[in-house]
Amino acid sequence: MPDDALPRTLRSARDLVAAGLLDPAAEAAIARLSERYAIAVTPAVAALIEDPRDPIGRQYIPDAAEAVTAPHEIDDPTADAPFTPVKGVVRRYPDRALLKPLLACPVYCRFCFRREVVGPDGGLLTEAELEAAIAWLAATPAIREVILTGGDPLMLSPRRLGWLMARLSAIPHVEILRVHSRVPVADPARVTPALVAALETEKAFFLCVHANHAREFSDPAAEALRRLNRAGVPLLGQSVLLRGVNDSAEAIEDLFRAMLRHRVKPYYLHQLDPAPGTARFHVPEAEGLALVRGLRGRLSGLGQPTYVRETPGGGGKVPVG
Ligand SMILES: *Cc1c(COP(=O)(O)O)cnc(C)c1O
Ligand code: SF4
Repeated sequence: MPDDALPRTLRSARDLVAAGLLDPAAEAAIARLSERYAIAVTPAVAALIEDPRDPIGRQYIPDAAEAVTAPHEIDDPTADAPFTPVKGVVRRYPDRALLKPLLACPVYCRFCFRREVVGPDGGLLTEAELEAAIAWLAATPAIREVILTGGDPLMLSPRRLGWLMARLSAIPHVEILRVHSRVPVADPARVTPALVAALETEKAFFLCVHANHAREFSDPAAEALRRLNRAGVPLLGQSVLLRGVNDSAEAIEDLFRAMLRHRVKPYYLHQLDPAPGTARFHVPEAEGLALVRGLRGRLSGLGQPTYVRETPGGGGKVPVG
């Protein structure tokens, strides 16, 4: 079950005003916006925000501009629906499938491509739905890799997560399990020994950590990543190219250096998907390409992610450039 009892996570416009992270004059508009797009700022993240417009604040503090959908923006930019054989599963490639056990996250990113569906009480698969999803995976021998995503799978209790890992590991043709999560940087206190133990499996396992700025690698985040690394979990990084967050040569280099220092191998840099109300984060691809090419000479090959975009309509990821 997602744990919504974390007392100090900021979850409303009022909470943000009280914490000094939102102008009181904006409270009413942001309160209306929050009926459509959830708010959550964990204590670990709030501690990193010096100004709501800084590279951390920008990722999580809502802005009235989100109420405006630009002409090119679409509700389901990755078009998951047509690729969903059974609730909670997305299969866009022959050999691998996503499994979304819940749609809650530790924080709600203002640029999220699933922003129309993620939220604190959204999308927890029922027991029967999860059994049906597992049954589909078990009955589809072409699937070699299951990617747990959501929402954030590390919002499940260690007991539930351990149960799910065991069920997926028991499918003979599944060779690789992967989890995509923001928890190690956004809510490192959740990375307890019990949670790490729940990820133990005989199958190959990779944890892909979503982070967009070097400052997200705080001391508690570093400790959480170290704990995972000690348990033998290979760590990958995925980032989204975001205006005002990591769109300078210095910021992007610092981000991938911070990942490497914390044993996280940069895997993908994503071009922003055109989800509604996210135009303030858009960086044109030509600019992104120049940033990525500029990294070549300055940063270890280990620190070079693949810069990708989603093909509109669900065609999958393709390298930019
Ligand atoms: C991104 C994604 C994957 C994983 O792709 P990789 O390139 O293997 O990381 C799998 N399925 C879907 C639907 C995806 O969107
Ligand atoms: S953690 Fe991921 S799924 Fe959740 S709001 Fe952020 S980008 Fe979206």
